[in-house]
Amino acid sequence: MNDVATILERPATSSVEHFDVLIVGAGISGIGGAYHLTTQCPGTQYVILESQDSFGGTWWTHRYPGIRSDSDLHTFGYRFKPWTSAPIATAEEILSYMGDVIKENDIARHIRYHHKVLTAEWSSTDNLWTLEAIRTDTNQTVRFTTNFLYMCQGYYRHDQGYTPEWPDMDKFKGQIVHPQTWPEDLDVTGKRVVVIGSGATAATLVPAIAGKCAHVTMLQRSPTWFNTGRNAIELAEELRKLQIDEIWIHEIVRRKILHDQAAFVKRTFEEPDSVKQDLLKAVRAYLGEDYDVDTHFTPSYRPWRQRIAFIPNGDLFQGIRDGKASVVTDQIERFTETGIQLRSGDHLDADIIVTATGFHLSVMGDIAFTVDGKALAWSDTVTYRGMMFTGVPNLVWVFGYFRASWTLRADLVGDFVCRLLNHMKQTGARRVVPTLRPEDKDMAILSWIDTENFNPGYVMRGLHLLPKRGDKREWQHTQDYWAEKDEFPKIDLSDAAFQYG
Ligand SMILES: Cc1cc2nc3c(=O)[nH]c(=O)nc-3n(C[C@H](O)[C@H](O)[C@H](O)COP(=O)(O)OP(=O)(O)OC[C@H]3O[C@@H](n4cnc5c(N)ncnc54)[C@H](O)[C@@H]3O)c2cc1C
Repeated sequence: MNDVATILERPATSSVEHFDVLIVGAGISGIGGAYHLTTQCPGTQYVILESQDSFGGTWWTHRYPGIRSDSDLHTFGYRFKPWTSAPIATAEEILSYMGDVIKENDIARHIRYHHKVLTAEWSSTDNLWTLEAIRTDTNQTVRFTTNFLYMCQGYYRHDQGYTPEWPDMDKFKGQIVHPQTWPEDLDVTGKRVVVIGSGATAATLVPAIAGKCAHVTMLQRSPTWFNTGRNAIELAEELRKLQIDEIWIHEIVRRKILHDQAAFVKRTFEEPDSVKQDLLKAVRAYLGEDYDVDTHFTPSYRPWRQRIAFIPNGDLFQGIRDGKASVVTDQIERFTETGIQLRSGDHLDADIIVTATGFHLSVMGDIAFTVDGKALAWSDTVTYRGMMFTGVPNLVWVFGYFRASWTLRADLVGDFVCRLLNHMKQTGARRVVPTLRPEDKDMAILSWIDTENFNPGYVMRGLHLLPKRGDKREWQHTQDYWAEKDEFPKIDLSDAAFQYG
Protein backbone atom coordinates (compact mmCIF):
# COMPACT_ATOMS: atom_id res chain seq x y z
CA MET A 1 0.00 0.00 0.00
CA ASN A 2 3.03 2.31 -0.38
CA ASP A 3 1.42 3.59 -3.54
CA VAL A 4 -1.49 4.93 -1.54
CA ALA A 5 0.82 6.76 0.84
CA THR A 6 2.83 8.39 -1.91
CA ILE A 7 -0.22 9.37 -3.95
CA LEU A 8 -0.50 12.51 -1.85
CA GLU A 9 2.90 13.67 -3.11
CA ARG A 10 2.03 13.27 -6.77
CA PRO A 11 0.72 16.00 -9.03
CA ALA A 12 -3.06 15.68 -9.38
CA THR A 13 -5.24 16.81 -12.23
CA SER A 14 -8.07 19.02 -11.08
CA SER A 15 -10.71 17.51 -13.39
CA VAL A 16 -12.76 14.47 -12.45
CA GLU A 17 -14.23 12.39 -15.26
CA HIS A 18 -17.55 10.64 -14.78
CA PHE A 19 -18.76 7.35 -16.29
CA ASP A 20 -21.90 5.30 -15.76
CA VAL A 21 -19.80 2.16 -15.37
CA LEU A 22 -16.09 1.83 -14.67
CA ILE A 23 -14.37 -1.47 -15.47
CA VAL A 24 -11.07 -2.21 -13.72
CA GLY A 25 -8.84 -4.43 -15.86
CA ALA A 26 -8.54 -5.14 -19.58
CA GLY A 27 -8.03 -8.89 -19.35
CA ILE A 28 -10.39 -11.46 -20.82
CA SER A 29 -13.03 -10.51 -18.20
CA GLY A 30 -12.82 -6.73 -18.71
CA ILE A 31 -12.96 -6.91 -22.51
CA GLY A 32 -15.86 -9.37 -22.26
CA GLY A 33 -17.59 -7.00 -19.82
CA ALA A 34 -17.21 -4.15 -22.32
CA TYR A 35 -18.79 -6.31 -25.02
CA HIS A 36 -21.76 -7.16 -22.80
CA LEU A 37 -22.31 -3.51 -21.85
CA THR A 38 -22.13 -2.50 -25.51
CA THR A 39 -24.64 -5.11 -26.64
CA GLN A 40 -26.98 -5.41 -23.65
CA CYS A 41 -26.89 -1.85 -22.22
CA PRO A 42 -26.46 0.30 -25.33
CA GLY A 43 -25.77 3.95 -24.58
CA THR A 44 -23.95 3.21 -21.31
CA GLN A 45 -20.96 5.49 -20.88
CA TYR A 46 -18.13 3.31 -19.67
CA VAL A 47 -14.36 3.28 -19.33
CA ILE A 48 -11.83 0.50 -18.72
CA LEU A 49 -8.85 1.40 -16.54
CA GLU A 50 -5.86 -0.88 -17.04
CA SER A 51 -2.54 -0.50 -15.26
CA GLN A 52 -0.48 -2.24 -17.94
CA ASP A 53 0.36 -0.89 -21.40
CA SER A 54 -1.89 -3.25 -23.35
CA PHE A 55 -4.93 -5.51 -23.06
CA GLY A 56 -4.83 -9.24 -22.29
CA GLY A 57 -4.18 -9.39 -18.53
CA THR A 58 -2.76 -12.84 -17.81
CA TRP A 59 -1.87 -13.34 -21.48
CA TRP A 60 0.00 -10.03 -21.67
CA THR A 61 1.80 -10.41 -18.33
CA HIS A 62 3.19 -13.89 -18.85
CA ARG A 63 6.08 -14.11 -21.33
CA TYR A 64 7.84 -17.30 -20.34
CA PRO A 65 8.69 -19.77 -23.12
CA GLY A 66 5.78 -21.98 -24.11
CA ILE A 67 3.07 -19.89 -22.36
CA ARG A 68 -0.29 -21.37 -23.34
CA SER A 69 -3.76 -22.04 -22.00
CA ASP A 70 -4.39 -25.18 -20.03
CA SER A 71 -8.06 -25.29 -20.89
CA ASP A 72 -9.64 -25.37 -24.32
CA LEU A 73 -10.37 -22.09 -26.08
CA HIS A 74 -13.89 -23.09 -27.09
CA THR A 75 -14.89 -22.59 -23.46
CA PHE A 76 -12.09 -20.21 -22.44
CA GLY A 77 -13.04 -18.10 -25.45
CA TYR A 78 -16.16 -15.97 -25.27
CA ARG A 79 -19.62 -17.41 -25.83
CA PHE A 80 -20.16 -14.82 -28.56
CA LYS A 81 -16.96 -15.18 -30.59
CA PRO A 82 -16.14 -18.52 -32.22
CA TRP A 83 -12.71 -20.05 -31.63
CA THR A 84 -11.52 -21.56 -34.87
CA SER A 85 -8.06 -23.03 -34.10
CA ALA A 86 -6.60 -25.86 -32.01
CA PRO A 87 -8.15 -25.91 -28.52
CA ILE A 88 -4.99 -25.32 -26.46
CA ALA A 89 -3.73 -21.91 -27.51
CA THR A 90 -0.61 -19.81 -27.05
CA ALA A 91 -0.76 -16.43 -25.31
CA GLU A 92 -0.14 -14.82 -28.70
CA GLU A 93 -3.19 -16.52 -30.21
CA ILE A 94 -5.37 -15.53 -27.25
CA LEU A 95 -4.20 -11.90 -27.51
CA SER A 96 -4.96 -11.90 -31.22
CA TYR A 97 -8.48 -13.28 -30.54
CA MET A 98 -9.08 -10.60 -27.90
CA GLY A 99 -7.72 -7.97 -30.29
CA ASP A 100 -10.36 -9.02 -32.83
CA VAL A 101 -13.13 -8.69 -30.20
CA ILE A 102 -11.87 -5.18 -29.35
CA LYS A 103 -11.77 -4.17 -33.01
CA GLU A 104 -15.10 -5.70 -34.01
CA ASN A 105 -16.91 -4.00 -31.13
CA ASP A 106 -15.10 -0.66 -31.14
CA ILE A 107 -13.87 -1.15 -27.57
CA ALA A 108 -10.36 0.37 -27.94
CA ARG A 109 -11.53 3.96 -27.48
CA HIS A 110 -12.92 3.06 -24.05
CA ILE A 111 -9.65 1.68 -22.66
CA ARG A 112 -7.18 3.82 -20.69
CA TYR A 113 -3.86 2.06 -20.35
CA HIS A 114 -1.22 2.95 -17.73
CA HIS A 115 -3.99 3.67 -15.20
CA LYS A 116 -3.44 1.85 -11.94
CA VAL A 117 -6.39 2.26 -9.59
CA LEU A 118 -5.24 2.86 -6.02
CA THR A 119 -8.32 3.95 -4.08
CA ALA A 120 -12.09 3.66 -4.40
CA GLU A 121 -14.43 5.56 -2.09
CA TRP A 122 -18.17 5.06 -1.99
CA SER A 123 -20.46 7.89 -0.89
CA SER A 124 -24.07 7.02 -0.05
CA THR A 125 -24.90 10.74 -0.09
CA ASP A 126 -24.00 10.99 -3.78
CA ASN A 127 -24.49 7.30 -4.68
CA LEU A 128 -21.12 7.43 -6.40
CA TRP A 129 -17.75 5.75 -6.34
CA THR A 130 -14.75 8.09 -6.55
CA LEU A 131 -11.56 6.46 -7.78
CA GLU A 132 -8.00 7.65 -7.74
CA ALA A 133 -5.57 6.13 -10.19
CA ILE A 134 -1.94 6.78 -10.88
CA ARG A 135 -0.75 7.06 -14.44
CA THR A 136 2.15 4.64 -14.56
CA ASP A 137 3.64 6.50 -17.56
CA THR A 138 3.50 10.09 -16.25
CA ASN A 139 3.18 9.58 -12.48
CA GLN A 140 0.13 11.82 -12.54
CA THR A 141 -2.86 11.20 -10.27
CA VAL A 142 -6.20 11.08 -12.04
CA ARG A 143 -9.71 10.93 -10.60
CA PHE A 144 -12.93 9.37 -11.81
CA THR A 145 -16.44 9.06 -10.50
CA THR A 146 -18.77 6.27 -11.48
CA ASN A 147 -22.19 4.90 -10.60
CA PHE A 148 -21.11 1.30 -10.87
CA LEU A 149 -17.83 -0.58 -10.44
CA TYR A 150 -17.31 -3.65 -12.59
CA MET A 151 -14.25 -5.33 -11.08
CA CYS A 152 -12.40 -7.40 -13.71
CA GLN A 153 -8.97 -7.17 -12.12
CA GLY A 154 -8.38 -10.91 -11.77
CA TYR A 155 -7.12 -12.58 -8.62
CA TYR A 156 -3.35 -12.21 -8.46
CA ARG A 157 -0.69 -9.50 -8.50
CA HIS A 158 0.56 -8.97 -12.00
CA ASP A 159 3.82 -7.26 -11.14
CA GLN A 160 5.25 -9.95 -8.89
CA GLY A 161 4.96 -13.72 -8.60
CA TYR A 162 5.12 -15.74 -5.40
CA THR A 163 8.53 -17.15 -4.42
CA PRO A 164 8.95 -18.87 -1.06
CA GLU A 165 12.04 -18.06 1.01
CA TRP A 166 14.54 -20.91 1.08
CA PRO A 167 17.73 -20.88 3.14
CA ASP A 168 20.80 -19.41 1.43
CA MET A 169 19.03 -18.24 -1.72
CA ASP A 170 21.41 -15.29 -1.82
CA LYS A 171 24.43 -17.64 -2.03
CA PHE A 172 23.39 -19.03 -5.44
CA LYS A 173 25.79 -17.65 -8.09
CA GLY A 174 23.47 -18.27 -11.05
CA GLN A 175 20.21 -16.55 -11.94
CA ILE A 176 16.87 -17.00 -10.12
CA VAL A 177 13.85 -16.24 -12.28
CA HIS A 178 10.08 -16.24 -11.66
CA PRO A 179 8.05 -17.15 -14.78
CA GLN A 180 5.73 -14.20 -14.20
CA THR A 181 8.62 -11.76 -14.66
CA TRP A 182 10.59 -13.70 -17.27
CA PRO A 183 13.51 -11.51 -18.50
CA GLU A 184 13.17 -10.81 -22.21
CA ASP A 185 16.88 -11.42 -22.82
CA LEU A 186 17.22 -14.62 -20.79
CA ASP A 187 19.13 -17.15 -22.88
CA VAL A 188 18.87 -20.72 -21.65
CA THR A 189 20.97 -22.17 -24.47
CA GLY A 190 23.40 -24.73 -23.12
CA LYS A 191 22.43 -23.96 -19.49
CA ARG A 192 21.44 -26.37 -16.72
CA VAL A 193 18.00 -25.25 -15.62
CA VAL A 194 16.06 -26.34 -12.54
CA VAL A 195 12.36 -25.49 -12.52
CA ILE A 196 10.87 -25.59 -9.01
CA GLY A 197 7.22 -26.60 -9.10
CA SER A 198 5.04 -28.93 -11.12
CA GLY A 199 1.89 -26.95 -11.80
CA ALA A 200 0.62 -25.88 -15.22
CA THR A 201 3.39 -23.28 -15.58
CA ALA A 202 6.22 -25.75 -14.96
CA ALA A 203 4.53 -28.30 -17.21
CA THR A 204 4.49 -25.82 -20.10
CA LEU A 205 7.88 -24.28 -19.51
CA VAL A 206 9.82 -27.55 -19.20
CA PRO A 207 8.99 -28.96 -22.67
CA ALA A 208 9.39 -25.50 -24.24
CA ILE A 209 13.03 -25.22 -23.16
CA ALA A 210 13.91 -28.93 -23.03
CA GLY A 211 15.51 -29.06 -26.47
CA LYS A 212 17.38 -25.78 -26.00
CA CYS A 213 19.09 -25.88 -22.62
CA ALA A 214 21.72 -28.46 -21.64
CA HIS A 215 19.19 -30.13 -19.37
CA VAL A 216 16.06 -29.12 -17.50
CA THR A 217 15.00 -30.67 -14.21
CA MET A 218 11.50 -30.23 -12.83
CA LEU A 219 11.91 -30.28 -9.06
CA GLN A 220 8.71 -30.99 -7.20
CA ARG A 221 7.92 -31.52 -3.55
CA SER A 222 4.96 -33.68 -4.55
CA PRO A 223 3.45 -34.77 -7.88
CA THR A 224 0.58 -33.16 -9.80
CA TRP A 225 -2.21 -34.77 -11.83
CA PHE A 226 -1.93 -34.23 -15.56
CA ASN A 227 -4.24 -35.09 -18.39
CA THR A 228 -2.92 -35.63 -21.87
CA GLY A 229 -4.15 -36.07 -25.40
CA ARG A 230 -4.06 -34.66 -28.89
CA ASN A 231 -4.39 -30.87 -29.19
CA ALA A 232 -7.48 -31.21 -31.32
CA ILE A 233 -11.18 -31.81 -30.92
CA GLU A 234 -12.43 -34.53 -33.21
CA LEU A 235 -15.97 -33.25 -33.24
CA ALA A 236 -14.79 -29.81 -34.39
CA GLU A 237 -12.70 -31.40 -37.11
CA GLU A 238 -15.67 -33.48 -38.30
CA LEU A 239 -18.00 -30.49 -38.34
CA ARG A 240 -15.44 -28.44 -40.26
CA LYS A 241 -15.16 -31.20 -42.83
CA LEU A 242 -18.93 -30.88 -43.27
CA GLN A 243 -18.49 -27.12 -43.79
CA ILE A 244 -20.70 -26.26 -40.85
CA ASP A 245 -20.71 -22.59 -39.94
CA GLU A 246 -18.06 -21.70 -37.30
CA ILE A 247 -20.75 -20.12 -35.09
CA TRP A 248 -22.51 -23.47 -34.91
CA ILE A 249 -19.27 -25.39 -34.43
CA HIS A 250 -18.35 -23.13 -31.52
CA GLU A 251 -21.66 -23.70 -29.76
CA ILE A 252 -21.81 -27.45 -30.42
CA VAL A 253 -18.20 -28.03 -29.37
CA ARG A 254 -18.70 -25.92 -26.22
CA ARG A 255 -21.64 -28.09 -25.25
CA LYS A 256 -19.74 -31.28 -25.96
CA ILE A 257 -16.70 -30.17 -23.93
CA LEU A 258 -18.86 -29.01 -21.03
CA HIS A 259 -20.83 -32.23 -21.09
CA ASP A 260 -17.65 -34.33 -21.03
CA GLN A 261 -16.09 -32.16 -18.30
CA ALA A 262 -19.13 -32.46 -16.08
CA ALA A 263 -19.05 -36.23 -16.48
CA PHE A 264 -15.33 -36.25 -15.67
CA VAL A 265 -15.69 -34.12 -12.53
CA LYS A 266 -18.55 -36.36 -11.37
CA ARG A 267 -16.32 -39.40 -11.84
CA THR A 268 -13.51 -37.80 -9.78
CA PHE A 269 -15.94 -37.73 -6.84
CA GLU A 270 -17.73 -41.02 -7.45
CA GLU A 271 -14.90 -43.23 -8.67
CA PRO A 272 -11.62 -41.42 -7.98
CA ASP A 273 -9.54 -44.60 -8.16
CA SER A 274 -10.71 -45.43 -11.64
CA VAL A 275 -9.99 -41.84 -12.78
CA LYS A 276 -6.52 -42.06 -11.25
CA GLN A 277 -5.83 -45.29 -13.15
CA ASP A 278 -6.93 -43.69 -16.44
CA LEU A 279 -4.68 -40.66 -15.92
CA LEU A 280 -1.71 -42.81 -14.95
CA LYS A 281 -2.23 -45.14 -17.91
CA ALA A 282 -1.85 -42.18 -20.26
CA VAL A 283 1.38 -41.10 -18.54
CA ARG A 284 2.78 -44.65 -18.63
CA ALA A 285 2.02 -44.88 -22.34
CA TYR A 286 4.57 -42.10 -22.89
CA LEU A 287 7.16 -43.00 -20.25
CA GLY A 288 7.12 -46.78 -20.42
CA GLU A 289 6.71 -49.38 -17.69
CA ASP A 290 10.23 -48.91 -16.30
CA TYR A 291 9.71 -45.25 -15.39
CA ASP A 292 8.91 -44.57 -11.72
CA VAL A 293 5.44 -43.13 -12.32
CA ASP A 294 4.45 -43.93 -8.72
CA THR A 295 7.00 -41.51 -7.30
CA HIS A 296 6.87 -38.72 -9.85
CA PHE A 297 3.36 -38.65 -11.31
CA THR A 298 1.04 -40.16 -8.69
CA PRO A 299 -0.26 -37.45 -6.34
CA SER A 300 -1.80 -38.38 -3.01
CA TYR A 301 -4.75 -35.99 -3.45
CA ARG A 302 -7.94 -36.75 -5.33
CA PRO A 303 -7.88 -35.59 -8.98
CA TRP A 304 -9.51 -32.15 -9.37
CA ARG A 305 -8.81 -30.99 -5.84
CA GLN A 306 -6.37 -28.82 -7.73
CA ARG A 307 -6.71 -27.87 -11.37
CA ILE A 308 -5.60 -30.65 -13.74
CA ALA A 309 -3.32 -29.25 -16.41
CA PHE A 310 -3.74 -30.61 -19.93
CA ILE A 311 -0.49 -31.63 -21.61
CA PRO A 312 -1.09 -31.42 -25.38
CA ASN A 313 0.47 -34.29 -27.27
CA GLY A 314 2.21 -35.38 -24.06
CA ASP A 315 5.05 -32.94 -24.78
CA LEU A 316 6.22 -32.86 -21.15
CA PHE A 317 6.48 -36.65 -21.07
CA GLN A 318 8.19 -36.79 -24.46
CA GLY A 319 10.94 -34.48 -23.16
CA ILE A 320 11.45 -36.80 -20.19
CA ARG A 321 11.43 -39.92 -22.34
CA ASP A 322 14.03 -38.39 -24.68
CA GLY A 323 16.32 -37.57 -21.72
CA LYS A 324 16.18 -33.80 -22.31
CA ALA A 325 14.17 -33.25 -19.14
CA SER A 326 13.88 -35.08 -15.85
CA VAL A 327 11.74 -34.99 -12.75
CA VAL A 328 13.04 -35.02 -9.20
CA THR A 329 10.62 -35.47 -6.30
CA ASP A 330 12.35 -34.24 -3.19
CA GLN A 331 12.50 -31.31 -0.77
CA ILE A 332 14.80 -28.32 -0.86
CA GLU A 333 17.14 -28.12 2.11
CA ARG A 334 18.96 -24.98 0.97
CA PHE A 335 20.41 -23.21 -2.02
CA THR A 336 24.15 -23.50 -2.64
CA GLU A 337 26.54 -21.48 -4.81
CA THR A 338 26.05 -24.01 -7.60
CA GLY A 339 22.47 -25.17 -7.24
CA ILE A 340 20.15 -26.81 -4.75
CA GLN A 341 20.92 -29.14 -1.88
CA LEU A 342 18.09 -31.61 -1.42
CA ARG A 343 16.89 -33.24 1.80
CA SER A 344 17.70 -36.68 0.36
CA GLY A 345 21.38 -35.70 0.25
CA ASP A 346 21.43 -35.25 -3.54
CA HIS A 347 22.55 -31.98 -5.10
CA LEU A 348 21.06 -30.43 -8.24
CA ASP A 349 23.58 -28.41 -10.23
CA ALA A 350 22.07 -25.37 -11.93
CA ASP A 351 22.96 -22.24 -13.89
CA ILE A 352 19.39 -20.96 -13.79
CA ILE A 353 16.70 -21.70 -11.18
CA VAL A 354 13.12 -20.97 -12.18
CA THR A 355 10.66 -20.62 -9.31
CA ALA A 356 7.35 -21.74 -10.85
CA THR A 357 5.84 -21.50 -7.39
CA GLY A 358 2.66 -19.58 -8.02
CA PHE A 359 0.94 -16.29 -7.45
CA HIS A 360 0.33 -13.65 -4.83
CA LEU A 361 -3.41 -13.48 -4.32
CA SER A 362 -4.69 -9.95 -4.84
CA VAL A 363 -8.16 -9.22 -3.57
CA MET A 364 -9.76 -6.51 -5.74
CA GLY A 365 -6.51 -5.37 -7.34
CA ASP A 366 -5.00 -4.24 -4.00
CA ILE A 367 -7.20 -1.17 -4.18
CA ALA A 368 -7.92 0.57 -0.84
CA PHE A 369 -11.73 0.68 -0.60
CA THR A 370 -13.84 2.79 1.72
CA VAL A 371 -17.61 2.84 2.11
CA ASP A 372 -18.91 6.12 3.56
CA GLY A 373 -15.53 6.91 5.04
CA LYS A 374 -14.99 3.50 6.62
CA ALA A 375 -12.15 1.28 5.37
CA LEU A 376 -13.52 -1.86 3.78
CA ALA A 377 -12.12 -5.26 4.82
CA TRP A 378 -13.33 -7.77 2.26
CA SER A 379 -13.07 -10.57 4.81
CA ASP A 380 -15.85 -8.85 6.81
CA THR A 381 -18.27 -9.21 3.90
CA VAL A 382 -20.32 -12.18 2.72
CA THR A 383 -20.47 -12.81 -1.00
CA TYR A 384 -23.67 -12.86 -3.01
CA ARG A 385 -23.03 -15.69 -5.51
CA GLY A 386 -19.30 -14.91 -5.64
CA MET A 387 -19.91 -11.62 -7.44
CA MET A 388 -21.36 -9.04 -5.00
CA PHE A 389 -20.67 -8.43 -1.31
CA THR A 390 -22.78 -7.50 1.70
CA GLY A 391 -22.58 -3.80 2.54
CA VAL A 392 -20.74 -2.93 -0.69
CA PRO A 393 -22.99 -0.91 -3.03
CA ASN A 394 -22.95 -0.92 -6.82
CA LEU A 395 -20.06 -3.32 -7.32
CA VAL A 396 -19.68 -6.65 -9.08
CA TRP A 397 -16.53 -8.80 -9.19
CA VAL A 398 -15.73 -11.36 -11.87
CA PHE A 399 -14.15 -14.45 -10.37
CA GLY A 400 -14.26 -17.40 -12.76
CA TYR A 401 -14.30 -21.14 -12.18
CA PHE A 402 -11.49 -23.31 -10.89
CA ARG A 403 -12.58 -26.46 -12.68
CA ALA A 404 -14.17 -25.02 -15.79
CA SER A 405 -12.90 -22.18 -17.98
CA TRP A 406 -12.86 -18.76 -16.33
CA THR A 407 -14.63 -17.07 -19.20
CA LEU A 408 -17.76 -19.20 -18.88
CA ARG A 409 -18.44 -17.33 -15.66
CA ALA A 410 -17.24 -13.98 -16.99
CA ASP A 411 -20.01 -14.24 -19.62
CA LEU A 412 -22.64 -15.24 -17.03
CA VAL A 413 -21.63 -12.39 -14.71
CA GLY A 414 -21.71 -10.01 -17.70
CA ASP A 415 -25.33 -10.96 -18.39
CA PHE A 416 -26.16 -10.42 -14.71
CA VAL A 417 -24.49 -6.99 -14.56
CA CYS A 418 -26.42 -5.84 -17.62
CA ARG A 419 -29.71 -7.19 -16.29
CA LEU A 420 -29.09 -5.45 -12.94
CA LEU A 421 -28.15 -2.14 -14.58
CA ASN A 422 -31.20 -2.25 -16.83
CA HIS A 423 -33.41 -3.09 -13.83
CA MET A 424 -32.03 -0.15 -11.85
CA LYS A 425 -32.56 2.15 -14.80
CA GLN A 426 -36.17 1.03 -15.19
CA THR A 427 -36.94 1.36 -11.48
CA GLY A 428 -34.97 4.58 -10.96
CA ALA A 429 -32.76 2.96 -8.29
CA ARG A 430 -29.38 4.58 -7.84
CA ARG A 431 -27.95 2.13 -5.38
CA VAL A 432 -28.06 -1.63 -4.78
CA VAL A 433 -26.53 -3.15 -1.66
CA PRO A 434 -26.43 -6.92 -1.12
CA THR A 435 -27.80 -7.54 2.37
CA LEU A 436 -28.39 -10.67 4.44
CA ARG A 437 -32.15 -11.25 4.75
CA PRO A 438 -33.99 -12.04 8.01
CA GLU A 439 -34.00 -15.71 6.98
CA ASP A 440 -30.20 -15.59 6.66
CA LYS A 441 -29.75 -14.44 10.27
CA ASP A 442 -28.65 -17.83 11.58
CA MET A 443 -26.80 -18.91 8.44
CA ALA A 444 -23.35 -20.41 9.05
CA ILE A 445 -20.64 -18.08 7.78
CA LEU A 446 -17.72 -19.95 6.24
CA SER A 447 -14.48 -19.28 4.37
CA TRP A 448 -14.61 -18.24 0.67
CA ILE A 449 -14.18 -21.80 -0.60
CA ASP A 450 -14.52 -25.26 0.82
CA THR A 451 -10.85 -26.19 1.14
CA GLU A 452 -11.74 -29.88 1.25
CA ASN A 453 -13.14 -29.45 -2.23
CA PHE A 454 -10.45 -27.24 -3.76
CA ASN A 455 -7.24 -25.88 -2.24
CA PRO A 456 -4.70 -24.24 -4.57
CA GLY A 457 -1.74 -22.66 -2.78
CA TYR A 458 -2.47 -19.01 -3.61
CA VAL A 459 -6.02 -19.31 -2.25
CA MET A 460 -4.88 -21.10 0.90
CA ARG A 461 -2.24 -18.42 1.55
CA GLY A 462 -4.78 -15.62 1.12
CA LEU A 463 -7.97 -17.21 2.42
CA HIS A 464 -8.09 -14.88 5.43
CA LEU A 465 -8.27 -11.87 3.08
CA LEU A 466 -11.16 -13.13 0.96
CA PRO A 467 -14.86 -12.48 1.55
CA LYS A 468 -16.88 -15.12 3.40
CA ARG A 469 -19.56 -17.43 2.07
CA GLY A 470 -22.75 -18.67 3.70
CA ASP A 471 -24.21 -22.16 3.69
CA LYS A 472 -26.94 -21.26 1.17
CA ARG A 473 -26.31 -21.29 -2.58
CA GLU A 474 -27.09 -17.61 -3.09
CA TRP A 475 -24.37 -16.69 -0.60
CA GLN A 476 -21.66 -18.78 -2.27
CA HIS A 477 -19.41 -18.98 -5.30
CA THR A 478 -20.56 -22.53 -6.00
CA GLN A 479 -17.95 -23.34 -8.68
CA ASP A 480 -20.79 -25.12 -10.47
CA TYR A 481 -21.17 -23.86 -14.03
CA TRP A 482 -23.87 -26.38 -14.85
CA ALA A 483 -26.16 -25.06 -12.11
CA GLU A 484 -25.21 -21.39 -12.46
CA LYS A 485 -25.92 -21.24 -16.19
CA ASP A 486 -29.57 -21.92 -15.32
CA GLU A 487 -29.69 -20.11 -11.95
CA PHE A 488 -28.11 -16.78 -12.93
CA PRO A 489 -30.66 -15.75 -15.58
CA LYS A 490 -33.40 -16.49 -13.04
CA ILE A 491 -31.96 -14.43 -10.17
CA ASP A 492 -34.89 -12.44 -8.79
CA LEU A 493 -33.68 -8.84 -8.73
CA SER A 494 -36.50 -7.86 -6.38
CA ASP A 495 -35.35 -10.39 -3.76
CA ALA A 496 -34.69 -8.86 -0.32
CA ALA A 497 -31.00 -9.77 -0.75
CA PHE A 498 -30.85 -6.65 -2.97
CA GLN A 499 -31.56 -3.46 -1.03
CA TYR A 500 -32.15 -0.59 -3.44
CA GLY A 501 -31.94 3.11 -2.73
C1 LIG B 1 -0.24 -18.72 -16.92
C2 LIG B 1 -1.72 -18.84 -16.67
C3 LIG B 1 -2.48 -19.66 -17.46
C4 LIG B 1 -3.87 -19.76 -17.23
N1 LIG B 1 -4.59 -20.57 -18.04
C5 LIG B 1 -5.92 -20.66 -17.84
C6 LIG B 1 -6.72 -21.48 -18.68
O1 LIG B 1 -6.24 -22.15 -19.58
N2 LIG B 1 -8.06 -21.54 -18.45
C7 LIG B 1 -8.64 -20.83 -17.44
O2 LIG B 1 -9.85 -20.92 -17.27
N3 LIG B 1 -7.90 -20.02 -16.65
C8 LIG B 1 -6.57 -19.92 -16.82
N4 LIG B 1 -5.84 -19.11 -16.01
C9 LIG B 1 -6.48 -18.30 -15.02
C10 LIG B 1 -6.59 -16.90 -15.68
O3 LIG B 1 -5.91 -15.95 -14.96
C11 LIG B 1 -7.99 -16.51 -15.95
O4 LIG B 1 -8.64 -17.52 -16.59
C12 LIG B 1 -8.20 -15.25 -16.78
O5 LIG B 1 -7.21 -14.97 -17.75
C13 LIG B 1 -8.36 -14.14 -15.86
O6 LIG B 1 -8.82 -13.07 -16.61
P1 LIG B 1 -9.23 -11.72 -15.95
O7 LIG B 1 -9.46 -10.75 -17.03
O8 LIG B 1 -10.34 -11.95 -14.98
O9 LIG B 1 -7.97 -11.32 -15.05
P2 LIG B 1 -6.47 -11.04 -15.48
O10 LIG B 1 -6.08 -11.80 -16.67
O11 LIG B 1 -5.68 -11.24 -14.24
O12 LIG B 1 -6.48 -9.52 -15.90
C14 LIG B 1 -6.72 -8.52 -14.96
C15 LIG B 1 -6.23 -7.19 -15.49
O13 LIG B 1 -6.56 -6.21 -14.52
C16 LIG B 1 -5.45 -5.34 -14.36
N5 LIG B 1 -5.50 -4.78 -13.00
C17 LIG B 1 -5.41 -5.45 -11.82
N6 LIG B 1 -5.48 -4.60 -10.79
C18 LIG B 1 -5.61 -3.35 -11.32
C19 LIG B 1 -5.71 -2.05 -10.75
N7 LIG B 1 -5.68 -1.86 -9.43
N8 LIG B 1 -5.84 -0.99 -11.60
C20 LIG B 1 -5.87 -1.17 -12.95
N9 LIG B 1 -5.76 -2.39 -13.53
C21 LIG B 1 -5.63 -3.46 -12.73
C22 LIG B 1 -4.24 -6.22 -14.59
O14 LIG B 1 -3.13 -5.45 -15.00
C23 LIG B 1 -4.74 -7.15 -15.68
O15 LIG B 1 -4.44 -6.67 -16.96
C24 LIG B 1 -4.46 -19.01 -16.20
C25 LIG B 1 -3.67 -18.19 -15.40
C26 LIG B 1 -2.32 -18.10 -15.62
C27 LIG B 1 -1.51 -17.19 -14.76
